[in-house]
Amino acid sequence: MNKPAIVNCPTCDTKFEWTEAFPFRPFCTDRCKQIDFGDWATERFSIAGEPCLDPSKLGEEE
Ligand SMILES: [Zn+2]
Repeated sequence: MNKPAIVNCPTCDTKFEWTEAFPFRPFCTDRCKQIDFGDWATERFSIAGEPCLDPSKLGEEE
């Protein structure tokens, strides 16, 4: 008989069995999956944000 592997959820570090009982693996629950994806998306957006030139600052050298 094969024993299911025990894995740790990357989000909450809960140990659970790698079986059909956990369809959201490698996360223990759908919630943990959403949390991890949210972190990833937030990081992406923060990198994308660059300050724009402020039009009111142009022409001040005159
Ligand atoms: Zn979890």
